[in-house]
Amino acid sequence: MKLLRHGSPDSAKPGLQLPDGTRIDASGFGHDWNEAFFADPANLDLLKTWVETHGDSAPVLEPDARLAPAIARPSKIICIGLNFSDHAEETGATPPTEPIIFFKATSAICGPDDNLVIPRNSEKTDWEVELGVVIGKKGSYVTEAEALDHVAGYVLHNDYSERAFQIERGGQWVKGKSCDSFAPIGPFLATPDELADVNDLPMWLKVNGETMQDGNTSNLIFKIPTIVSYLSQFMTLLPGDLISTGTPAGVGLGMKPPKFLKPGDVIELGIEGLGEQRQEAVACP
Ligand code: ZN
Repeated sequence: MKLLRHGSPDSAKPGLQLPDGTRIDASGFGHDWNEAFFADPANLDLLKTWVETHGDSAPVLEPDARLAPAIARPSKIICIGLNFSDHAEETGATPPTEPIIFFKATSAICGPDDNLVIPRNSEKTDWEVELGVVIGKKGSYVTEAEALDHVAGYVLHNDYSERAFQIERGGQWVKGKSCDSFAPIGPFLATPDELADVNDLPMWLKVNGETMQDGNTSNLIFKIPTIVSYLSQFMTLLPGDLISTGTPAGVGLGMKPPKFLKPGDVIELGIEGLGEQRQEAVACP
C-alpha cells in the first residue's frame, strides 16, 4: 500500500494512493499515520480491508491538492552520514568503518512539494536525495536478522543541509540539518511489498532541470538491516521513527566550485517506486 497525507500543515489528513494512481482521502479509516498506527501491525490489514470496502466511495483528491508529509511527526529523525563511498569521497572524508549518525529536528518536516525556505544568513543550502526507512514495530537491541520485521515502509526524503551551519559553526551537524522545510517527506510511504528490491532503486536529483545526483540504493555502504540493528544498540526505535540512509555523490558541496541554492531554484528528485518531489527555493521571510 501507498500511504500519504494531505491538507494544510495544521490539519493534515490521512490518504492513500491506489494502484491506478488515484489519491483518496482515508479519514474514514479513523487513524492518522502516526506512532499509534504503526505500533499495531494489524492496522495495515485493517486498512487493506477498509480500502476494499470503502475505497470506491472515499473522496478523491484534486490533482493539485497539497500533499502533507507522508507520515505524522515522528519521535525522531535519525540520519546516516557518508553512507555512499562516492559521496564520502567528494566531501573529502574517508568512508566510515561504523555508521555515522546524526539527528534532524522533527520540526523540519514538510510536504514533498512545499517550498524550500532558505534560512536566514544562509549561503550554503544544499540538497541530498535519500531513501527513508520508517519503523513499524518498536525495537531495542534488534539483531540484523530481525531488523526488517521492524520496518513499516519506505519514503523519499530530501535531507537539506546548510553546510556552513553544519561544518563551520562548531558542534554537531544537527544545526545544519534542522531548519524549517529541511525534511520534505513523501509523496507517500510504500509498504515493503510495493518494492521489488529496496537494495536496487535508482535515485536522482535535479536543480533547474540539470541532473546533480544519479545514484542507486545498491551502493549504500551500510545496508538497511545493519543500520536498524546498529541504531537500536543506542536508542529505542519507536513506531513511525524515520531513518534517512544517506545520499550518493552530486551534492553542491562536492562540486568545483561548490554550488548552493538560491531563491527561485527548482529542485526535483525521485527514487524508483517511491515517487517524486518538487520544491521551489524561497528566501526566509
Ligand atoms: Zn544526508
